[in-house]
Amino acid sequence: SISAHAKKYINLNGSNYLNLSSNNYLGLADSAYLKQSAISAIEKFGCSSCASRLVSGNFEIYNELESTIAQFKHTQKALVLNAGYVANLTLLQALAKDAVVFSDKLNHASIVDGILLSRAKFHRYAHCDIEMLEKLLKKETANKIIVTDTIFSMDGDAAPLKEIVSLAKHYDAFVIVDEAHATGIFGEGRGYAYQKGVSRDIDCHMGTFSKALGSFGAYIASSELVIDYLINNARGFIFSTALPPAVIGANLASIDYVLKNPQLGKNLLSISENIRQYLKKLGFDVGNSVSQIIPVILKTNEAVLKAQKLLITKGIFVGAIRPPTVPKNTSRLRISLRADLDENDLELIKDAFAYLGNIL
Ligand SMILES: *Cc1c(COP(=O)(O)O)cnc(C)c1O
Repeated sequence: SISAHAKKYINLNGSNYLNLSSNNYLGLADSAYLKQSAISAIEKFGCSSCASRLVSGNFEIYNELESTIAQFKHTQKALVLNAGYVANLTLLQALAKDAVVFSDKLNHASIVDGILLSRAKFHRYAHCDIEMLEKLLKKETANKIIVTDTIFSMDGDAAPLKEIVSLAKHYDAFVIVDEAHATGIFGEGRGYAYQKGVSRDIDCHMGTFSKALGSFGAYIASSELVIDYLINNARGFIFSTALPPAVIGANLASIDYVLKNPQLGKNLLSISENIRQYLKKLGFDVGNSVSQIIPVILKTNEAVLKAQKLLITKGIFVGAIRPPTVPKNTSRLRISLRADLDENDLELIKDAFAYLGNIL
Protein backbone atom coordinates (compact mmCIF):
# COMPACT_ATOMS: atom_id res chain seq x y z
CA SER A 1 0.00 0.00 0.00
CA ILE A 2 1.00 3.59 -0.57
CA SER A 3 1.05 6.52 1.81
CA ALA A 4 2.29 10.12 1.61
CA HIS A 5 1.64 10.10 -2.13
CA ALA A 6 1.35 13.88 -2.61
CA LYS A 7 4.94 14.61 -1.62
CA LYS A 8 8.18 14.21 -3.53
CA TYR A 9 8.78 10.84 -1.89
CA ILE A 10 6.44 7.90 -2.03
CA ASN A 11 6.25 5.56 0.93
CA LEU A 12 6.01 1.94 -0.17
CA ASN A 13 5.85 -0.73 2.52
CA GLY A 14 7.61 1.52 5.00
CA SER A 15 10.44 2.92 2.84
CA ASN A 16 10.69 6.22 0.97
CA TYR A 17 11.45 6.46 -2.72
CA LEU A 18 11.77 9.46 -4.99
CA ASN A 19 8.42 9.38 -6.79
CA LEU A 20 8.73 9.67 -10.57
CA SER A 21 5.36 8.09 -11.24
CA SER A 22 2.90 10.80 -10.26
CA ASN A 23 1.00 13.39 -12.29
CA ASN A 24 1.45 15.90 -9.47
CA TYR A 25 3.94 17.67 -11.73
CA LEU A 26 4.13 20.94 -9.80
CA GLY A 27 3.74 19.45 -6.35
CA LEU A 28 0.54 21.48 -5.87
CA ALA A 29 -1.43 18.56 -4.38
CA ASP A 30 0.42 19.17 -1.13
CA SER A 31 0.49 22.97 -1.32
CA ALA A 32 -0.58 24.83 1.81
CA TYR A 33 -2.14 27.48 -0.44
CA LEU A 34 -4.49 24.97 -2.10
CA LYS A 35 -5.28 23.19 1.14
CA GLN A 36 -6.21 26.45 2.86
CA SER A 37 -8.51 27.44 0.01
CA ALA A 38 -10.17 23.99 0.12
CA ILE A 39 -10.68 24.26 3.88
CA SER A 40 -12.19 27.75 3.60
CA ALA A 41 -14.61 26.50 0.95
CA ILE A 42 -15.68 23.59 3.15
CA GLU A 43 -16.23 25.91 6.10
CA LYS A 44 -18.34 28.26 4.02
CA PHE A 45 -20.29 25.78 1.86
CA GLY A 46 -20.01 22.36 3.57
CA CYS A 47 -18.82 19.02 2.28
CA SER A 48 -21.19 18.47 -0.63
CA SER A 49 -22.79 20.58 -3.32
CA CYS A 50 -25.94 18.52 -2.62
CA ALA A 51 -27.38 18.76 -6.16
CA SER A 52 -26.52 19.08 -9.81
CA ARG A 53 -25.53 22.53 -11.06
CA LEU A 54 -28.80 23.16 -12.90
CA VAL A 55 -30.92 22.36 -9.85
CA SER A 56 -29.35 23.95 -6.76
CA GLY A 57 -25.69 22.93 -6.76
CA ASN A 58 -24.50 26.15 -8.34
CA PHE A 59 -22.89 27.83 -5.32
CA GLU A 60 -21.13 31.12 -6.01
CA ILE A 61 -17.49 29.95 -6.16
CA TYR A 62 -18.47 27.75 -9.12
CA ASN A 63 -19.19 30.84 -11.20
CA GLU A 64 -16.03 32.46 -9.93
CA LEU A 65 -14.01 29.41 -10.99
CA GLU A 66 -15.55 29.36 -14.46
CA SER A 67 -14.91 33.02 -15.13
CA THR A 68 -11.34 32.59 -13.83
CA ILE A 69 -10.82 29.71 -16.27
CA ALA A 70 -12.26 31.69 -19.20
CA GLN A 71 -9.84 34.52 -18.43
CA PHE A 72 -6.95 32.11 -17.97
CA LYS A 73 -7.68 30.41 -21.31
CA HIS A 74 -8.68 33.61 -23.15
CA THR A 75 -12.08 32.25 -24.14
CA GLN A 76 -15.58 33.69 -23.79
CA LYS A 77 -16.78 31.08 -21.35
CA ALA A 78 -15.85 27.93 -19.46
CA LEU A 79 -17.63 25.01 -17.88
CA VAL A 80 -16.40 22.81 -15.04
CA LEU A 81 -16.98 19.06 -15.29
CA ASN A 82 -16.55 16.44 -12.59
CA ALA A 83 -13.43 14.77 -14.05
CA GLY A 84 -11.38 14.75 -17.21
CA TYR A 85 -12.91 11.43 -18.14
CA VAL A 86 -16.44 12.79 -17.83
CA ALA A 87 -15.51 16.01 -19.65
CA ASN A 88 -14.31 14.20 -22.76
CA LEU A 89 -17.13 11.69 -22.66
CA THR A 90 -19.85 14.28 -22.37
CA LEU A 91 -18.24 16.84 -24.69
CA LEU A 92 -17.96 14.42 -27.57
CA GLN A 93 -21.34 12.87 -26.92
CA ALA A 94 -22.91 16.32 -27.10
CA LEU A 95 -20.97 17.79 -30.02
CA ALA A 96 -20.14 14.89 -32.30
CA LYS A 97 -23.62 13.49 -32.88
CA ASP A 98 -24.00 14.40 -36.55
CA ALA A 99 -20.34 14.98 -37.32
CA VAL A 100 -17.41 12.90 -38.53
CA VAL A 101 -14.65 12.74 -35.94
CA PHE A 102 -10.91 12.54 -36.66
CA SER A 103 -8.97 11.29 -33.66
CA ASP A 104 -5.25 10.64 -33.11
CA LYS A 105 -4.60 6.94 -32.57
CA LEU A 106 -2.92 7.61 -29.21
CA ASN A 107 -5.62 9.92 -27.82
CA HIS A 108 -6.72 9.25 -24.25
CA ALA A 109 -9.29 6.48 -23.68
CA SER A 110 -11.88 9.03 -22.52
CA ILE A 111 -11.84 10.62 -25.98
CA VAL A 112 -12.30 7.25 -27.65
CA ASP A 113 -15.17 6.43 -25.29
CA GLY A 114 -16.81 9.82 -25.95
CA ILE A 115 -16.69 9.23 -29.69
CA LEU A 116 -18.21 5.77 -29.30
CA LEU A 117 -20.96 7.15 -27.10
CA SER A 118 -21.81 9.83 -29.68
CA ARG A 119 -22.29 7.12 -32.33
CA ALA A 120 -20.62 9.47 -34.78
CA LYS A 121 -18.68 8.15 -37.73
CA PHE A 122 -14.98 8.40 -36.88
CA HIS A 123 -11.49 7.95 -38.25
CA ARG A 124 -8.42 7.25 -36.16
CA TYR A 125 -5.35 8.64 -37.87
CA ALA A 126 -1.88 7.28 -37.18
CA HIS A 127 -0.17 9.09 -34.31
CA CYS A 128 0.59 12.70 -35.29
CA ASP A 129 0.32 11.75 -38.99
CA ILE A 130 -0.73 14.97 -40.69
CA GLU A 131 -0.69 13.51 -44.20
CA MET A 132 -3.06 10.75 -43.22
CA LEU A 133 -5.29 13.24 -41.44
CA GLU A 134 -5.49 15.36 -44.57
CA LYS A 135 -6.33 12.36 -46.77
CA LEU A 136 -9.18 11.46 -44.43
CA LEU A 137 -10.46 15.04 -44.19
CA LYS A 138 -10.59 15.26 -47.98
CA LYS A 139 -12.94 12.29 -48.17
CA GLU A 140 -15.65 13.61 -45.86
CA THR A 141 -18.34 16.18 -46.55
CA ALA A 142 -20.25 16.20 -43.24
CA ASN A 143 -19.35 18.50 -40.29
CA LYS A 144 -15.85 17.61 -39.17
CA ILE A 145 -14.30 17.52 -35.71
CA ILE A 146 -10.58 16.98 -35.13
CA VAL A 147 -9.73 15.94 -31.58
CA THR A 148 -6.27 15.49 -30.12
CA ASP A 149 -4.32 15.40 -26.89
CA THR A 150 -1.73 18.18 -26.95
CA ILE A 151 0.85 16.32 -24.83
CA PHE A 152 0.41 12.55 -25.04
CA SER A 153 0.28 10.78 -21.72
CA MET A 154 2.44 7.71 -22.37
CA ASP A 155 4.97 9.30 -24.76
CA GLY A 156 5.27 12.87 -23.57
CA ASP A 157 5.38 14.01 -27.18
CA ALA A 158 3.32 16.83 -28.67
CA ALA A 159 0.62 17.00 -31.34
CA PRO A 160 1.55 19.01 -34.46
CA LEU A 161 -0.94 21.73 -33.52
CA LYS A 162 0.10 24.33 -36.07
CA GLU A 163 -0.40 21.86 -38.90
CA ILE A 164 -3.66 20.59 -37.43
CA VAL A 165 -5.04 24.11 -37.12
CA SER A 166 -4.11 24.96 -40.67
CA LEU A 167 -5.75 21.77 -41.99
CA ALA A 168 -8.81 22.60 -39.91
CA LYS A 169 -9.06 26.02 -41.55
CA HIS A 170 -8.69 24.57 -45.01
CA TYR A 171 -11.22 21.77 -44.50
CA ASP A 172 -13.53 23.72 -42.22
CA ALA A 173 -13.15 21.44 -39.22
CA PHE A 174 -13.87 22.15 -35.54
CA VAL A 175 -10.82 21.52 -33.32
CA ILE A 176 -10.91 20.11 -29.78
CA VAL A 177 -7.71 19.79 -27.73
CA ASP A 178 -7.16 17.86 -24.51
CA GLU A 179 -4.54 19.69 -22.43
CA ALA A 180 -4.57 17.27 -19.47
CA HIS A 181 -0.76 17.00 -19.36
CA ALA A 182 0.02 20.54 -20.54
CA THR A 183 -2.21 22.69 -18.32
CA GLY A 184 -0.18 24.35 -15.58
CA ILE A 185 3.10 23.68 -17.38
CA PHE A 186 3.28 24.93 -20.95
CA GLY A 187 2.52 28.50 -22.00
CA GLU A 188 2.75 30.01 -18.50
CA GLY A 189 0.34 27.33 -17.42
CA ARG A 190 -2.25 28.14 -20.08
CA GLY A 191 -1.34 25.08 -22.10
CA TYR A 192 0.50 23.89 -25.15
CA ALA A 193 -1.82 25.58 -27.67
CA TYR A 194 -1.08 28.90 -25.99
CA GLN A 195 2.66 28.23 -26.05
CA LYS A 196 2.48 27.47 -29.78
CA GLY A 197 0.51 30.64 -30.49
CA VAL A 198 -2.52 28.79 -31.86
CA SER A 199 -4.79 29.11 -28.87
CA ARG A 200 -7.31 31.29 -30.68
CA ASP A 201 -7.54 28.84 -33.58
CA ILE A 202 -8.72 26.06 -31.26
CA ASP A 203 -12.51 25.85 -30.94
CA CYS A 204 -12.67 23.97 -27.70
CA HIS A 205 -10.04 23.52 -24.97
CA MET A 206 -10.37 20.75 -22.44
CA GLY A 207 -8.05 20.38 -19.46
CA THR A 208 -7.95 18.80 -16.03
CA PHE A 209 -7.31 19.96 -12.48
CA SER A 210 -6.18 16.45 -11.56
CA LYS A 211 -2.62 16.54 -12.88
CA ALA A 212 -0.29 19.56 -12.66
CA LEU A 213 -2.98 21.59 -10.90
CA GLY A 214 -2.91 19.15 -7.98
CA SER A 215 -6.64 18.87 -7.43
CA PHE A 216 -9.58 17.24 -9.22
CA GLY A 217 -12.16 17.91 -11.91
CA ALA A 218 -11.89 19.32 -15.43
CA TYR A 219 -12.78 22.32 -17.53
CA ILE A 220 -13.99 23.00 -21.04
CA ALA A 221 -13.17 26.50 -22.31
CA SER A 222 -14.79 27.71 -25.51
CA SER A 223 -17.16 30.23 -27.09
CA GLU A 224 -20.36 31.31 -25.40
CA LEU A 225 -22.29 29.43 -28.09
CA VAL A 226 -20.55 26.11 -27.37
CA ILE A 227 -20.66 26.43 -23.58
CA ASP A 228 -24.35 27.37 -23.57
CA TYR A 229 -25.07 24.40 -25.81
CA LEU A 230 -23.17 22.11 -23.43
CA ILE A 231 -25.03 23.42 -20.39
CA ASN A 232 -28.25 22.24 -22.00
CA ASN A 233 -26.99 19.10 -23.72
CA ALA A 234 -24.00 17.63 -21.92
CA ARG A 235 -25.40 14.67 -20.00
CA GLY A 236 -22.34 14.32 -17.75
CA PHE A 237 -22.98 17.90 -16.64
CA ILE A 238 -26.75 17.77 -16.31
CA PHE A 239 -27.16 14.43 -14.58
CA SER A 240 -24.39 14.50 -11.99
CA THR A 241 -23.94 16.19 -8.62
CA ALA A 242 -21.65 19.19 -8.84
CA LEU A 243 -18.09 18.83 -7.51
CA PRO A 244 -17.86 19.48 -3.77
CA PRO A 245 -16.89 22.94 -2.48
CA ALA A 246 -13.45 21.75 -1.26
CA VAL A 247 -12.49 20.81 -4.81
CA ILE A 248 -13.72 24.10 -6.25
CA GLY A 249 -11.76 25.95 -3.57
CA ALA A 250 -8.56 24.08 -4.40
CA ASN A 251 -9.13 24.58 -8.12
CA LEU A 252 -9.48 28.34 -7.73
CA ALA A 253 -6.28 28.46 -5.72
CA SER A 254 -4.42 26.29 -8.25
CA ILE A 255 -5.04 28.69 -11.15
CA ASP A 256 -4.11 31.64 -8.99
CA TYR A 257 -0.93 29.86 -7.93
CA VAL A 258 0.11 29.07 -11.49
CA LEU A 259 -0.63 32.63 -12.65
CA LYS A 260 1.57 33.99 -9.85
CA ASN A 261 4.35 31.44 -10.49
CA PRO A 262 4.69 31.07 -14.26
CA GLN A 263 8.33 30.02 -13.84
CA LEU A 264 7.26 26.71 -12.23
CA GLY A 265 6.31 25.09 -15.52
CA LYS A 266 9.35 26.53 -17.25
CA ASN A 267 11.66 25.10 -14.60
CA LEU A 268 10.01 21.72 -14.93
CA LEU A 269 10.50 21.73 -18.69
CA SER A 270 14.15 22.65 -18.34
CA ILE A 271 14.73 19.91 -15.73
CA SER A 272 13.02 17.53 -18.16
CA GLU A 273 15.24 18.57 -21.06
CA ASN A 274 18.31 18.04 -18.87
CA ILE A 275 17.27 14.49 -17.88
CA ARG A 276 16.14 13.64 -21.41
CA GLN A 277 19.50 14.63 -22.90
CA TYR A 278 21.30 12.58 -20.24
CA LEU A 279 19.19 9.49 -20.97
CA LYS A 280 19.79 9.88 -24.69
CA LYS A 281 23.54 10.05 -24.08
CA LEU A 282 23.28 6.79 -22.14
CA GLY A 283 21.66 5.29 -25.24
CA PHE A 284 18.10 4.97 -23.97
CA ASP A 285 15.17 5.31 -26.38
CA VAL A 286 13.08 8.24 -25.07
CA GLY A 287 10.86 8.52 -28.14
CA ASN A 288 9.88 12.06 -29.16
CA SER A 289 9.27 13.40 -25.66
CA VAL A 290 9.24 17.19 -25.36
CA SER A 291 7.65 17.39 -21.92
CA GLN A 292 7.91 16.37 -18.27
CA ILE A 293 6.79 12.88 -19.32
CA ILE A 294 9.75 10.84 -20.55
CA PRO A 295 9.25 7.27 -21.72
CA VAL A 296 12.22 4.92 -21.52
CA ILE A 297 11.20 2.33 -24.06
CA LEU A 298 12.68 -1.08 -23.21
CA LYS A 299 10.23 -3.08 -25.38
CA THR A 300 9.65 -6.26 -23.35
CA ASN A 301 7.67 -6.61 -20.13
CA GLU A 302 10.56 -8.54 -18.59
CA ALA A 303 13.04 -5.73 -19.23
CA VAL A 304 10.67 -3.08 -17.86
CA LEU A 305 9.87 -4.99 -14.68
CA LYS A 306 13.55 -5.74 -14.10
CA ALA A 307 14.43 -2.08 -14.64
CA GLN A 308 11.70 -0.97 -12.24
CA LYS A 309 13.09 -3.28 -9.53
CA LEU A 310 16.65 -2.07 -10.07
CA LEU A 311 15.57 1.57 -9.80
CA ILE A 312 13.82 0.78 -6.52
CA THR A 313 17.14 -0.49 -5.13
CA LYS A 314 18.51 2.96 -6.04
CA GLY A 315 15.72 4.76 -4.19
CA ILE A 316 13.56 5.69 -7.17
CA PHE A 317 10.02 4.65 -8.05
CA VAL A 318 9.04 4.78 -11.74
CA GLY A 319 5.89 3.35 -13.33
CA ALA A 320 6.24 0.26 -15.54
CA ILE A 321 3.80 0.63 -18.44
CA ARG A 322 2.86 -2.41 -20.49
CA PRO A 323 0.28 -3.42 -23.12
CA PRO A 324 -2.65 -2.83 -23.44
CA THR A 325 -1.89 0.68 -22.11
CA VAL A 326 0.79 0.99 -24.81
CA PRO A 327 1.22 -0.91 -28.11
CA LYS A 328 2.84 -4.37 -28.07
CA ASN A 329 6.63 -4.46 -27.87
CA THR A 330 6.83 -0.86 -26.58
CA SER A 331 6.74 -1.59 -22.84
CA ARG A 332 8.39 1.27 -21.04
CA LEU A 333 9.28 3.04 -17.87
CA ARG A 334 7.22 6.22 -17.75
CA ILE A 335 9.22 8.89 -15.95
CA SER A 336 7.15 11.85 -14.87
CA LEU A 337 9.23 14.66 -13.43
CA ARG A 338 8.29 17.33 -10.91
CA ALA A 339 9.13 20.99 -10.62
CA ASP A 340 10.50 20.63 -7.09
CA LEU A 341 13.31 18.17 -7.89
CA ASP A 342 16.60 19.65 -6.66
CA GLU A 343 20.21 19.10 -7.78
CA ASN A 344 20.59 16.09 -5.45
CA ASP A 345 17.47 14.46 -6.85
CA LEU A 346 18.64 14.98 -10.42
CA GLU A 347 22.03 13.44 -9.57
CA LEU A 348 20.25 10.48 -7.97
CA ILE A 349 18.17 9.97 -11.11
CA LYS A 350 21.18 10.23 -13.42
CA ASP A 351 23.29 7.83 -11.35
CA ALA A 352 20.44 5.33 -11.18
CA PHE A 353 19.92 5.31 -14.93
CA ALA A 354 23.67 5.09 -15.61
CA TYR A 355 23.69 2.00 -13.36
CA LEU A 356 20.64 0.64 -15.19
CA GLY A 357 22.28 1.24 -18.58
CA ASN A 358 25.27 -0.88 -17.51
CA ILE A 359 23.15 -3.78 -16.32
CA LEU A 360 20.35 -4.05 -18.91
C1 LIG B 1 -5.87 11.89 -17.13
C2 LIG B 1 -6.42 12.24 -18.44
C3 LIG B 1 -7.80 12.42 -18.63
C4 LIG B 1 -8.79 12.12 -17.55
O1 LIG B 1 -8.73 13.05 -16.53
P1 LIG B 1 -9.26 12.68 -15.06
O2 LIG B 1 -9.41 13.99 -14.39
O3 LIG B 1 -8.21 11.81 -14.44
O4 LIG B 1 -10.55 11.94 -15.21
C5 LIG B 1 -8.24 12.84 -19.86
N1 LIG B 1 -7.39 13.06 -20.88
C6 LIG B 1 -6.05 12.86 -20.74
C7 LIG B 1 -5.14 13.09 -21.91
C8 LIG B 1 -5.53 12.45 -19.52
O5 LIG B 1 -4.23 12.24 -19.39
